[in-house]
Amino acid sequence: RGPSPEELLAGLNEPQRAAVVHAGPPLLVVAGAGSGKTRVLTRRIAWLISERKAHPGSILAITFTNKAAAEMRERVEDLVGRRARIMWVSTFHSACVRILRKEIDKFGYKSSFSIYDAADSKRLMTLVLKELDLDPKRYQPRAVLNWVSNQKNELVDHEDATKEARNHLEETYAAAYTLYQQKLRAANALDFDDLIMTTVHLFQAFPDVRENYRRRFRHVLVDEYQDTNHAQYSLVRELCAHDVGRPVAAGGADPDAPDGDGGIEPSELMVVGDADQSIYAFRGASIRNILQFEEDFPDATTILLEQNYRSTQTILEAANAVISRNKGRKAKNLWSDAGEGERIVGYVADDEHDEARFVSEQIDKLVDDTAVEPMDVAVFYRTNAQSRVFEEVFIRTGQPYKVVGGVRFYERREVRDALAYLRMLVNPADEISLRRVLNTPKRGIGERAEACVDALAQRDGLTFWEALQRAEDAPGIATRSLGAVRGFVEMVQELQSMVDAGERADVVLEAVLTRSGYLAELEASDDPQDETRVENLAELVAVAREFADEPVLGPSADPADAAGPDAPTPGLGDFLERVALVADSDQIPDADESGGVVTLMTLHTAKGLEFPVVFLTGMEDGVFPHQRALGDQPELEEERRLAYVGVTRAQQRLYVSRAVVRSAWGAPSHNPASRFLDELPVDLVDWQRTEAAQTSWNRPVAAFPGAGSRGTQPVRRFGTAAARADADARGKTREIPSLEPGDRVVHDSFGMGTVVTMEGVGDKAVASIDFGSQGVKRLLMRYAPVEKL
Ligand code: ATP
Ligand code: MG
Repeated sequence: RGPSPEELLAGLNEPQRAAVVHAGPPLLVVAGAGSGKTRVLTRRIAWLISERKAHPGSILAITFTNKAAAEMRERVEDLVGRRARIMWVSTFHSACVRILRKEIDKFGYKSSFSIYDAADSKRLMTLVLKELDLDPKRYQPRAVLNWVSNQKNELVDHEDATKEARNHLEETYAAAYTLYQQKLRAANALDFDDLIMTTVHLFQAFPDVRENYRRRFRHVLVDEYQDTNHAQYSLVRELCAHDVGRPVAAGGADPDAPDGDGGIEPSELMVVGDADQSIYAFRGASIRNILQFEEDFPDATTILLEQNYRSTQTILEAANAVISRNKGRKAKNLWSDAGEGERIVGYVADDEHDEARFVSEQIDKLVDDTAVEPMDVAVFYRTNAQSRVFEEVFIRTGQPYKVVGGVRFYERREVRDALAYLRMLVNPADEISLRRVLNTPKRGIGERAEACVDALAQRDGLTFWEALQRAEDAPGIATRSLGAVRGFVEMVQELQSMVDAGERADVVLEAVLTRSGYLAELEASDDPQDETRVENLAELVAVAREFADEPVLGPSADPADAAGPDAPTPGLGDFLERVALVADSDQIPDADESGGVVTLMTLHTAKGLEFPVVFLTGMEDGVFPHQRALGDQPELEEERRLAYVGVTRAQQRLYVSRAVVRSAWGAPSHNPASRFLDELPVDLVDWQRTEAAQTSWNRPVAAFPGAGSRGTQPVRRFGTAAARADADARGKTREIPSLEPGDRVVHDSFGMGTVVTMEGVGDKAVASIDFGSQGVKRLLMRYAPVEKL
């Protein structure tokens, strides 16, 4: 039973093995990209369970994204079997949520607290700034929130921030911070940064609670350690008890055995990272954590990994050449025996459209001439907005693609509305969510009525939800509004009873969408966008259903109650938690389901991933490195680390490109070549074109208007979208097909259909089309991807 030690160590080199079997003092694995850090961390977990007999529930492993966590869990399970399921493998945020759900009542919060994401936080901060009567031009919510976030990442609470404020600006920021926290608390909500800070504060305020977790997590492992910020670092220190616990007995007493006389050995800590890949300084990440690990943990063992298994020598040499320009870094000796491989391909494009066309052509060529498949290909860029041009060309050529990040699924209006409904059902004190849905869809509760209810809440010291339930006492409320409010309250109570009865998330969601009239309103609309919205909501229901079917552990699960066959079905609260924590890179399709999808993403999202073929685009000074970094040495070095991350994602082939002209905010700008291109060794790059075909000054900048973003849905291979985009590309509007009832048509998504009725003419023509099993759809012909057969 169980794997043999040889199996657990198979496919590892000497230093990798040493890291896997290491026991005792803290272990730091520092190594360049692709040297197997993540692989070692994963194997070590399997080793701990299988060979060192560590209880899976005593393991806490931290990854940078939920997706990375899921992969790691899967690998460990492959090695040691299902019993590994109860280990905690998660992001810092998820781990903190799990702890807080159990413990936060000690701080006077309810365990059903909401998690506010960036957009919620911004709404709340906007309210705060208004209430403080601050000039919205001088104090922008985003800037204030950034400041607050930095404070939290440094574990500075609003009281300390107020005390430490040294000038008027900081005093104002601190006042906003204070009111913001008060409002969060009143809403029984935490923002993202609170999750970490509150957990650390909890451990500091309640040593017995901390002691429990120290006893429980005998092994703490952290991947991508270079991107931890101070708060996260403090959390690790709190858990590993290194400053408090007794030193590990020399000669190797069993480190898993609790000490008899009350004290406990410090937990075993392993962190892996690469200082050269630290790219989140703007979120408070500090390379200091990795550079000074040995200082902070004097008995730490350090293991270096030097062989890279990911990339060809050419790619690695390029990466090393670029990163070696950074000052104050430890030189590394990263090598690969994967062979020289292909030379890097370089291309200088006329403009961004030409660049996108080049990328698309190269992908076609690779797919035609080599074993490369679209899913092997990633296109990276510095900022989200750069994805649009690539999307346009992929739409035009019918190349399915997926954008990771950008307008994320969970940021779409309809998805946020639906989630707001769910959140206020679980936590009625969540005023932001409650108010968001109060009159969505419109049900006759206008701003005046809302203000009347608010006044009642203020007067009688009620929460907004309590005031709603007593709306008849609201001063000045109109009778008509009162009826509408009553209807709303009744509906919410009804839905809440479903939640209380432990109904599945997907069932509640469907009830919300129907009962609220939200879905009906969208379905009745002529706006084709609303049709997409319906599809997105269907997608959300599918996500909820999948989640409810998953036999995962609820956040309160203890190692004691292992995930047996009758583990509780995860409830609505668990679902919301999962959704709140989805990170950008969680949208990357799994290899098996992505099929032929090219992946587009920003460099920041690419961390930890690998692809056989990588396109590094927009290599221009002012784009990458970013404009902001040009005159700033530390920022420039961070950009260079980002370039290092980008280059080292590539396994076999790397393409670098830049555009001579790029339109920014509608105006063409001429950017010089990125200095990172000059840092690539000349002999490694095969420049297919070194300057623009024509000087761009005398040439109009081509544009493809119209074919806007397609979101994160892979685009289907169908003729009409391409035809439409083509027409757009030539600057013409597409001809609207003239249809009559009875005509047969084909639609990009719905397939074949028959026209039932036609209304309106020209731009306003709307067709009702019967798509058989897909149902009857009302489509605005101006936009609908429909062709007459
Ligand atoms: P990054 O710094 O980008 O996060 P990493 O150090 O975590 O990289 P991994 O992702 O663990 O590196 O490994 C890179 C690739 O090399 C993976 O495909 C992994 O499976 C492979 N690999 C790692 N070690 C070995 C080995 N000893 N033999 C063969 N392949 C290996
Ligand atoms: Mg890794």
